[in-house]
Amino acid sequence: MRLNALSLEYFRNYLSARAEFHPGMNIICGDNAQGKTNLLEGISYLAGARSHRARYDRELIMFGIQHGFLTGELECRGRDFTVEVTLNAGQRRILKRNGVKLQSAAELGETLNTVLFCPEDLFLIRAGAVERRRFLDDTIAQLRPKYAEALERYQKIWKSKSFILNHQEERPDLLATLDDFSHQLCQAGAVITHYRAHFIKRLAKTAPAIHREFSGGREALSLAYEPDTAISDPLAPTKVLFAQLLEHQECRREAELAARKCLIGPHRDELRVDIDGRSARQYASQGQTRTAALSLKLAQRDIIFDDREEYPVLLLDDVLSELDPRRQEFVLNHIQGGQVFITCCEEERLAALQEGKVFRVKNGTIEEER
Ligand code: ATP
Ligand code: MG
Repeated sequence: MRLNALSLEYFRNYLSARAEFHPGMNIICGDNAQGKTNLLEGISYLAGARSHRARYDRELIMFGIQHGFLTGELECRGRDFTVEVTLNAGQRRILKRNGVKLQSAAELGETLNTVLFCPEDLFLIRAGAVERRRFLDDTIAQLRPKYAEALERYQKIWKSKSFILNHQEERPDLLATLDDFSHQLCQAGAVITHYRAHFIKRLAKTAPAIHREFSGGREALSLAYEPDTAISDPLAPTKVLFAQLLEHQECRREAELAARKCLIGPHRDELRVDIDGRSARQYASQGQTRTAALSLKLAQRDIIFDDREEYPVLLLDDVLSELDPRRQEFVLNHIQGGQVFITCCEEERLAALQEGKVFRVKNGTIEEER
């Protein structure tokens, strides 16, 4: 999968710009607030009609304008595609591929997948378990529609059950349905645990090797799944997981009523990330945090490749800062295969770049430098 060219019109601070990209490495440099992140945002929009930082499409349209446009020339499975996006301030966006209107944003994923790393992704290591669960959920849901279904079901049941537990006095009539909800929650929970366990097994094989090379062999990353304490082997068949969750659920019934919340299930799972045997969340330095978060994203990219037989386009926003020269060199030259976009502020770092194109972004314009 790759993006050969992109045009942006009235998109963020781009009035009208076009660039033709390298099939491998593309470096986007420029001072602060010139449009580097906006450009990556435009690219990732072509993969799912979503932005990592805007809630509403209208934020993506140039201030004071009603419509914005993106046109991407893509290559996927050896074929060329043109994807056109029309953003409308008041209405829904229109998506077209080769002139044909698409019914849903999910169809964009057939021609372009992206993996984005942005500064906020450092929370993947530093913040609480909720960020790591989100990473698991996003990646697995992209690859396995059954997981996305189970997750949606789980969230619905969890909400209903939480309501019942939280409103015991006002709505005692609802308590009669509690066990039924608990049962359903364990069913969906077993499916989620099953998929997470298999995905983390792949991740735990892939990420440490990337991290080892990235850190020049100095550090060892390890990952472990910490599901519900009643689960003896998360890789066991779903039936077994369901039975264990249900049994635990029954033991904790009174505790849940007292706590007024759901105490059992994968909404409490953790993906443990250690560097040299110590919790990365508690002890990693800034550079180590960045290295570990990026290794997880690169592993995600490899896993998508294994599944799809094509690399997703990798978008790295502001990844070079805080990395020492050897780690920067790894990012610039050792991400093999697939197309990569990297934004950065300081040019001198690019001396290490062996092959690819360099673009300079300045106040909403894109100029090819080499
Ligand atoms: P940094 O190095 O600080 O991350 P950047 O080059 O990534 O900078 P962007 O986040 O791409 O900067 O933003 C560039 C500019 O675009 C900002 O000054 C911002 O105010 C402006 N901008 C954001 N949204 C819009 C919009 N809808 N219309 C016009 N300009 C916008
Ligand atoms: Mg930026």
